[in-house]
Amino acid sequence: MSQPTYVYSFKEGDGKDKQLLGGKGANLCEMTQFGLNVPPGFVITTATCLDYLDSSTQQLPEGVMAQVRAQMAAVEAETGKGFGDAENPLLVSVRSGSAMSMPGMMDTILNLGLNTETLQGVIAQTGDERFGYDAYRRFIQLFGKVALNVPDELFDAEFEAVKQNAHVTADVGLSGADLKEISERFLTVFQNHTGRPFPEDPYEQLEIAIKAVFGSWSGKRAVDYRREFKITPDMANGTAVNICTMVFGNRGDDSATGVAFTRNPGTGENKLYGEYLVNAQGEDVVAGIRTPKPIDKLADEMPEMARQLEQLRQNLENHYHEIQDFEFTIERGILYCLQTRNGKMNAIAMVRTSVEMVDEGLITKEQALLRIDPTHLEQMLYPRLNPHNRIAPVAQGLPASPGAASGMAIFDADRAEIVGKQQGKEIILLREETKPEDIHGFFAAQGILTSRGGKTSHAAVVARGMGKPCVAGAEGISVDVQRREARIGDHIISEGDIITIDGSSGNVYLGTLEKVEPEFTEELNLLLHWADEVSYLRVMTNADTALDATRALRYGAQGIGLCRTERMFNATDRLPVVIDMIVAEDEAQRQAALDRLLPMQRADFKAMFEVMAPKPVTIRLLDPPIHEFLPSENQLESDLERLRHLSNSVSGLTVLANSMMLLDNSEQGKDEAASMRQFVDEHLVTQAIEKKELMLKKVRMLTETNPMLGHRGVRLGITFPEIYSMQVRAILEATAECAAKDMEVHPQIMVPQVCTAEELHHVATMVDHIREEVERESGQKLNFRFGTMIEVVRACMRADSLVEEAEFFSFGTNDLTQATFSFSREDAENKFLPMYNKSGILQNNPFEVLDEKGVGKLMQLAVQWGREIKPDLSVGICGEHGGHPASIDFCHRIGLNYVSCSAPRVPVARLATAHASLKHPRA
Ligand code: ADP
Ligand code: MG
Ligand code: MG
Repeated sequence: MSQPTYVYSFKEGDGKDKQLLGGKGANLCEMTQFGLNVPPGFVITTATCLDYLDSSTQQLPEGVMAQVRAQMAAVEAETGKGFGDAENPLLVSVRSGSAMSMPGMMDTILNLGLNTETLQGVIAQTGDERFGYDAYRRFIQLFGKVALNVPDELFDAEFEAVKQNAHVTADVGLSGADLKEISERFLTVFQNHTGRPFPEDPYEQLEIAIKAVFGSWSGKRAVDYRREFKITPDMANGTAVNICTMVFGNRGDDSATGVAFTRNPGTGENKLYGEYLVNAQGEDVVAGIRTPKPIDKLADEMPEMARQLEQLRQNLENHYHEIQDFEFTIERGILYCLQTRNGKMNAIAMVRTSVEMVDEGLITKEQALLRIDPTHLEQMLYPRLNPHNRIAPVAQGLPASPGAASGMAIFDADRAEIVGKQQGKEIILLREETKPEDIHGFFAAQGILTSRGGKTSHAAVVARGMGKPCVAGAEGISVDVQRREARIGDHIISEGDIITIDGSSGNVYLGTLEKVEPEFTEELNLLLHWADEVSYLRVMTNADTALDATRALRYGAQGIGLCRTERMFNATDRLPVVIDMIVAEDEAQRQAALDRLLPMQRADFKAMFEVMAPKPVTIRLLDPPIHEFLPSENQLESDLERLRHLSNSVSGLTVLANSMMLLDNSEQGKDEAASMRQFVDEHLVTQAIEKKELMLKKVRMLTETNPMLGHRGVRLGITFPEIYSMQVRAILEATAECAAKDMEVHPQIMVPQVCTAEELHHVATMVDHIREEVERESGQKLNFRFGTMIEVVRACMRADSLVEEAEFFSFGTNDLTQATFSFSREDAENKFLPMYNKSGILQNNPFEVLDEKGVGKLMQLAVQWGREIKPDLSVGICGEHGGHPASIDFCHRIGLNYVSCSAPRVPVARLATAHASLKHPRA
């Protein structure tokens, strides 16, 4: 039986096989084979490592050392040196390297092959005793530490002692004699600690080193690291060992060592970026013993080397078509490349280099798109805290909406509006939790902080929709609205105190922290334009106001996939009218309120159409249960108590006003008394009491056991037809007004919560009726589409029937997830999901990552059944999942036409749809 190949020369190993050769080894082979100057060497495979770790013998598999010797002979022939040769010794490094880079996890031994004899050979050959002993002492320490666990401290103590005796502070000040003494002391340390003399036989040294590197793979440090970073065996299994001829950057002032990126990893600038040290060996740069110089300086110090390094940079990029992060060493005027790998960059640099490499013809547009992880883009789109901030957070909550913001802490929405909007101050709305009626506070705030609720709480969802930073559920904070303060431990935040929140980490800080502004660069625009060209899915946005829509357009949205009309109802000028509509005691009163709402809604829709024309605007008819627009029962009860109290003192105040007029009979006095009397008008107070009582009665009447499954959506639209009828009229009148101005608009009317075709038919009939009226009144032919949300399990099951009434489907995956799992979102996230995730019962939070197997299966069926009847049915998704790259990929695979997400996620989604199209081309 022939032996397996355990060892490959750099000249023959397959540079693509990182699993077998490790990343470092594969690239050493690849670089050697395309002609870069790599010191000769060979790789022992990861499979050998696994064999070794499996066996109980603590011996390398049979034949490994024989293959190593054969390879070593080839290296000897190539270099003209001999391993263990007293005259002209070959020294090597023994380096680890698995398929995944695990920085600092496994060690490298340099200068292996040195012993008392070969050391003299090195000294005689170089004529440099200092150099010889410097190499020797490094080898003894690294070998002792890596192979036999001799603690660094023992060596360091001896090193320091010699330094002190010699009265030098820096290593470079040590003489040859000093280093010789250090080497001798190190040998003693080794012998004392291990109980054996330092091995003299180079092959014995080598075998011990190989075993040590293999063993480090199953060492605690490496095992913990893999667990922490979720590196599974299919990603990296075992480490390879690279044996590489030593080259010396510490041979004098014509030698150097350094690390560099082929382009700037912070900005993407197309220019060599890195550091080097003259007269030093590899690890000195990383160890930080001496301060390295910026690579620019090399042109002054060694112009010819700088030129060669520039050539190396170009060779690397031309070959890898990717930014490289590489190590080099210069030995007496000869440049060697010792390692390369793909460079890690921030998002800004990723985008810039993608675009520029296409320009340079290095990569195709497709490669440029696939190179960038869509979620990575988010970094670019929100202001972030300066990563150099060193201030500690005072509290932590959930990272609910990314970005950082600072401002005055304000404890209720009305104050927020006054301080934020009217006084123009930057504020953070800080509440226990938020409700729909707080919406004006959101508009006025830079960011939102709550002490209760999860990542899908009201605060989180609304903040994400608006692209404002939000930290939710910061439980360490207790908010006292009455006293206008919040407590964090012993610390009190009073209204107006400045705080900073980081919605990307969930941290809360006192005071203002420095931020880095987002950049929507020209390169990003271009790149996303390429993305649109290859994407099959269109990216629409969820936007409720013309302002949101404008921003989404700037981010490249191709239409509005979801406009929630309830957000318009919540605006400060609307809410009182909406409340009037709800508390109306008869048809006529309700109609009167609706008549006031109609022009407002029409104006809202028209503004949206104008911003988006000619792109589609999908408007969802009213969805939430109407009691959401009313204050809570508790709130009303305490309001009433206060009003009744006031009412008692009002009569007294009226008397006071009258007597004031008697005292001061001037014109101004009269005015003041009059306005005071008006202010304390008994009548007004009584009216307020009556209204609140009515509201309270209504709130009690409308109370539901389970509002999410209650009187909402189309059920509300059918039982209170005036509401939908007003909204549909507002939409169609706005359409007619635009049509009259020859503006091309594409409204889409969308019905929420539908579960039967009859419901849809009912609304469709009403819509048709209104269409006829508006067409007659305006003389315009109206163009629009009518469709339904699919967010109820039954709707999925009845898709073939719903499709008869609908021109489009839009999956509402938040509700659909809730319905499919029978999980209520808030309860799930606050109570059992974290435990489910931890114990692996559920991999992800299904409200964040679309559950493909369950919810996705329902979606797939609905698409299939719908298209069987109407092959060109347009189908989209407007739940939060619509902005999540993995969910987008799934939507692509099941044949959706569009995704819709909040404005700030639009760029992420545009790249993600391109990835999906490139990875799964459609016929
Ligand atoms: P790491 O993975 O920690 O970077 P390396 O195996 O790359 O470990 O080696 C550590 C240091 O030693 C690096 O600076 C590297 O350039 C240097 N080095 C490794 N092998 C050699 C060699 N044959 N000649 C000179 N320097 C080397
Ligand atoms: Mg390295
Ligand atoms: Mg819904």
